[in-house]
Amino acid sequence: MKKIGIIGGGASGLAAAITAAKQKDTEVYILEHKEQAGKKLLSTGNGRCNLTNEKMDSSFFRSSEIKCVEAVLEQFGYEDAIHFFEELGLMMRKRNGYIYPRCEQAAVVRELLVREAERLGVKIYTGVHVTEVFPGRKGFKISAGQETFSADRVILACGGCAAKVLGSDGSGYRIAKSLGHSLVPVVPALVQLKIGDNPLKAAAGVRTEASVSAYVDGNNVASDTGELQITDYGISGIPVFQISRYIGKALYKKQKAKAAIDFLPSMEEAEFAKYLMKRLPGREEMKAADFLAGIFNSKLTGCLLSLSGIFTKRRAWELKEEDIWRFTRQCKHTVLSIQDTRGFDNAQVCAGGVSLQEIDWRTMESCYVKGLYITGELLDADGMCGGYNLQWAWASGALAGRAAGNL
Ligand SMILES: Cc1cc2nc3c(=O)[nH]c(=O)nc-3n(C[C@H](O)[C@H](O)[C@H](O)COP(=O)(O)OP(=O)(O)OC[C@H]3O[C@@H](n4cnc5c(N)ncnc54)[C@H](O)[C@@H]3O)c2cc1C
Repeated sequence: MKKIGIIGGGASGLAAAITAAKQKDTEVYILEHKEQAGKKLLSTGNGRCNLTNEKMDSSFFRSSEIKCVEAVLEQFGYEDAIHFFEELGLMMRKRNGYIYPRCEQAAVVRELLVREAERLGVKIYTGVHVTEVFPGRKGFKISAGQETFSADRVILACGGCAAKVLGSDGSGYRIAKSLGHSLVPVVPALVQLKIGDNPLKAAAGVRTEASVSAYVDGNNVASDTGELQITDYGISGIPVFQISRYIGKALYKKQKAKAAIDFLPSMEEAEFAKYLMKRLPGREEMKAADFLAGIFNSKLTGCLLSLSGIFTKRRAWELKEEDIWRFTRQCKHTVLSIQDTRGFDNAQVCAGGVSLQEIDWRTMESCYVKGLYITGELLDADGMCGGYNLQWAWASGALAGRAAGNL
């Protein structure tokens, strides 16, 4: 009988437990410090759990070792994730390639995972906070306060340090380091951005279609288009989340980070300027803000006019061609200086983590400690919004569970 101890009962820990428990002669247990396993899953996808994505390859991930991510996804890809959940009895639905449970309840995903683990005989100990792991000649000792557990194999599935309130408090990094692993610097990702002296503050609450680009030391490093949310502290929404890991990395390196917003991605600058000049006849007596009504949310129009130095109450006929060009330029390229991200507590994931150079991508086994496997967000791989981070958790968890149970 092989005893497999899994530290952390989140997405990757549960996938690892189920896969390991299906192998012959295994005794599997999970040590989870929260009051229940899979607590974070309940909050995923706004309570609906976006569990994977039909468009699945390494281009949706970032890592210092992207080849390793590719190799993991080749062994456990989109089809494997679907099959894994179908076996649990989950019916799924697709929206633009994003996969959700058909019932749209993240709680059901958690319940099916926990139920399957228990059906296979996995013991889940909750309220157990692991502090240290000691490898020895006869297997591992796992220290959790007054209690000590033993195991032949250990799967470290503690997550990163994003959204600490949901369980992942960064203790996995400490344990991995104590076992000889090194970390690629960890920064918050899929997170909102704080703008110093926010010039869009008067438009807080506005949601609008926009393209958002990240600039680091003057170079465009990433862009995304989607629904931008303007807030009192800065900017949020999916396109901001998608570029945030680059900003996080830049700020960590003390580089200058800016976000440039295109509030009208569907139109070229010259086309928009021509359109405005064409709509002027008949509207000359209108105030500038009224002349522009119907294009953007009125609060945003006010901000854009003031940023381009045009008084909102100026009459439209007073606007010179150069004013129109300045305004269109502002709409297409509003540059904001990023002060900070909203930090790990507000982030959905972490970028960085245990270096994949130190992991055997076929099994997720540590290259330093035989019998130790590391999975999920703890590793240096982060996905974009769209089910990619959970796919990484299922994939790395399943590979580790399979290998640990097979030895
Ligand atoms: C609000 C929110 C929404 C998200 N939505 C999505 C989504 O829709 N789609 C998607 O793909 N991704 C989403 N993610 C990201 C995704 O949830 C994570 O990437 C994924 O859960 C990581 O899996 P994991 O197993 O590595 O870590 P986790 O799921 O964080 O699990 C780690 C577990 O280990 C436990 N633990 C940690 N340290 C210890 C210790 N020392 N002792 C004992 N137990 C410990 C924790 O309590 C936790 O249960 C979201 C994240 C957040 C925060």
